[in-house]
Amino acid sequence: MSEPTSFLLPSDRIPKAWYNLNADMPEPIPPPLHPATRLPAGPDDLTAIFPENLVMQEVTPERWVEIPDPVREVLALWRPTPLLRAVRLERHLQTPAQIYYKYEGVSPGGSHKPNTAVAQAYYNKIAGTKRLATETGAGQWGSSLALACSLFGLECRVYMVKVSFEQKPYRKLMMQTWGAEVFASPSDQTEFGRRVREQDPECAGSLGIAISEAIEDTVKTPGTKYSLGSVLNHVILHQTVIGLEALEQMEMAGPEPDIIIGCVGGGSNFAGLAFPFVEKKLAGKASYKIVAVEPTACPSMTRGDLRYDFGDTAGMTPLMMMKTLGHEFMPPPIHAGGLRYHGMAPMVSHAHKLGLIDAVAVPQTHVFDSAVTFARTEGIVPAPESAHAVAVAMDEAIAAREAGQKKVILFGLSGHGMLDLTSYENFLAGRLQDV
Ligand SMILES: *Cc1c(COP(=O)(O)O)cnc(C)c1O
Repeated sequence: MSEPTSFLLPSDRIPKAWYNLNADMPEPIPPPLHPATRLPAGPDDLTAIFPENLVMQEVTPERWVEIPDPVREVLALWRPTPLLRAVRLERHLQTPAQIYYKYEGVSPGGSHKPNTAVAQAYYNKIAGTKRLATETGAGQWGSSLALACSLFGLECRVYMVKVSFEQKPYRKLMMQTWGAEVFASPSDQTEFGRRVREQDPECAGSLGIAISEAIEDTVKTPGTKYSLGSVLNHVILHQTVIGLEALEQMEMAGPEPDIIIGCVGGGSNFAGLAFPFVEKKLAGKASYKIVAVEPTACPSMTRGDLRYDFGDTAGMTPLMMMKTLGHEFMPPPIHAGGLRYHGMAPMVSHAHKLGLIDAVAVPQTHVFDSAVTFARTEGIVPAPESAHAVAVAMDEAIAAREAGQKKVILFGLSGHGMLDLTSYENFLAGRLQDV
């Protein structure tokens, strides 16, 4: 081995503050609107479901927000996460490009999601919240919040999209192991869930329905607050530890990246990796091509409209200015469960509108094909969501080979796929189709 391939930081290099791109956006994001009055929603409209300290983070104009020590202490269970150079993949592709990836699969939940779950559980705990309610698709978010609640001594209630509840028992079992209560959504626990079940007893559920159930639970149960694993400003803020560490690790590695790539569902792991680099771009210190990758089956960035829309199916959340396929959009059952959201984070949508980032959609057979190549060269089996970023990183490395360019590629490997092997089974058996 001639050159180093892993770039590791000690635990005292966990960032001490999160980065808020809203402080540097060339123009501000249009404010969220109250769902009934359609007037700008103030902090008061959000404190029914979120604790005040997180609401203040949601709207903060501060560029840097200090990370409390108890949060850093929990993050130190798996952070700083490694940055690796994929030399074996480079060789396999015979590309002159260098490929680096920031690996978030080392967390106890196996993805980036605990980064914000831990922060949210902490702020709820100090605000006096007793119980958190949330929704989950394939279970990554529910399991991350269950983990964080167990570490900070909070009760946790998870509404899990029914099709995943039935087909993917392992994350449900992780949630239960960490002490959470888990219900298949639509459930009989809420009025909205019961109404959906009456209208369509076979309903397989959706994230939008599960969000509506979790919010109804929150407003009707004393001591309960709601927690969301993506989309919102404070979630993206918490995820910037990824990019802040990666900036430092790329400095250790040497070259500036030319291209930065992340997969997008609600946008949080992508933004977490990319926004600290966007800061450098805005400051004129570097120029990067920054690419958000989504599935062609749920193309909110590349095919959606930029307009006000609800975050949930029932229309209970504030309206947010975002790239959206419409809150009633029912995505087809592709295997990357975490990328099946109808909208996109307002911050990511706005950064796209301002031309700070690009977006591309890729079909799932190409995604799994790339993921298998990655697994066979680098070892890690990527989460199906993360595999979208793998696919575009490989596309870029091949394009660099064709053009004879020494590009430096950095992508976010947001999680491992050890609990998503059924989708690999389907791919390997030739049962996956593009929609
Ligand atoms: C949930 C999830 C995603 C998608 O969510 P974002 O908020 O867009 O990051 C991506 N990768 C993994 C591994 C996930 O669990």
